[in-house]
Amino acid sequence: MTVIPAKGRPWSDLKLELEDAKKDDFSWQEGRMALYFYYLDEEVKRVQQEAYESYWTENAMGKKVFFSMQKLEQEVLDMGLALHHAKAEAHATFTSGGSESIFLAMKTARDWARKTKGISEPNAVLPRTAHPAFDKAAAFLGIKTIRVPTTRADYRANAEELEKRFDANTIMTMGSAPNYPFGVFDPIAEIAAVAKKHDLWMHVDACVGGFLAPWVKKLGYDIPDFDFAVPGVTSISADLHKYGYAPKGASMMMLCDKALHEYQVFSFSDWERGPYINDTAPGTRAGGAVAAAWAVMNFLGEDGYTAWAKVIMDTVEKLTSGIDTIKGLTVLKPHELCLFVYTSEDPDLDIGAVGEAMTTRGWFIGRQAEPVGIHMHLNPVHAKTADLYLSDLVASVAEVHATGAKVTEAVGATY
Ligand SMILES: *Cc1c(COP(=O)(O)O)cnc(C)c1O
Repeated sequence: MTVIPAKGRPWSDLKLELEDAKKDDFSWQEGRMALYFYYLDEEVKRVQQEAYESYWTENAMGKKVFFSMQKLEQEVLDMGLALHHAKAEAHATFTSGGSESIFLAMKTARDWARKTKGISEPNAVLPRTAHPAFDKAAAFLGIKTIRVPTTRADYRANAEELEKRFDANTIMTMGSAPNYPFGVFDPIAEIAAVAKKHDLWMHVDACVGGFLAPWVKKLGYDIPDFDFAVPGVTSISADLHKYGYAPKGASMMMLCDKALHEYQVFSFSDWERGPYINDTAPGTRAGGAVAAAWAVMNFLGEDGYTAWAKVIMDTVEKLTSGIDTIKGLTVLKPHELCLFVYTSEDPDLDIGAVGEAMTTRGWFIGRQAEPVGIHMHLNPVHAKTADLYLSDLVASVAEVHATGAKVTEAVGATY
């Protein structure tokens, strides 16, 4: 078992050891995987790192001492709120990631429903495509989840089917903008309308789309309204550490009305040190994450975000049209943002085996379970590797045709 060494070792040795430790990892720099990371270029990386370092030691929980932190954080939150068409009475919280944003939204919904409606055995009605973070939060919070598969061919949630599952203990429902499995937008306006009719909390999970979709829309793509512009939306999660291009540890949870914030706050005073009050899942929070998010948002600006969004959408177009020309492979449609799935429609071409052949060629493959396929989650870095990906895919398909390989056992889950 590893223990803390009796004597410290020089940083020069440790640094080399860290660099060496990565040598067998999949290389995100080379665009060898389409998930887990967000990378623009070395210039943006330097902005992230230096900004993070400038608030290296500050604790974002210490709002009474680090006044500048509070100001930076508020500016980040205000930029996010404005981007999501929030009204003046809205409120936002800087969180550590999408899972925490979703946790806080569900916690706030639970305590709101308990206080205003006396619901003590709450349930949440979710489209089956909702991210597992909803079930994780629900498990922590004592909320039952009811997942409703869609019957729509376009993979979007069906508001009527969700509504049929509402009962007296339902506190909330949600829609994704877009969902992770297929990359399509749920009909947020329709779901929000049924939520409103039943006085339910309506959450929009824009973790992946919140800081990308507005720019894609500006580029002229047909992106539906999904944020506070839609009547009946109560809360939104949007990840800064995804397409906001902040370093990891940055997301936001937004509330349509600051009056709801009272249900978010945790307040405790039964200990010797006096009252402890805060509104996030963690206590101590990295000041660097806030400063770096602030710096990247100001560094890129609308122009930068829009230009990078174009790189992503052009790469989606290049890859999907390339994949569609490979005999036997089909890209599932629709897909609307940076995510898509492709499958095999040829019984003699096993898509799992194609994935294995791609793995042998050094690509990390995101595996879709239903329908069995390959899931892609793009970054600007994939613009540089798209041609290589496609030529390796052609070779992999030819190999599987030649060998007739099939993957019979389930290949390990992506996460
Ligand atoms: C990434 C993601 C989450 C979870 O966010 P983390 O930052 O990984 O905790 C939730 N919902 C969607 C749609 C996501 O893409």
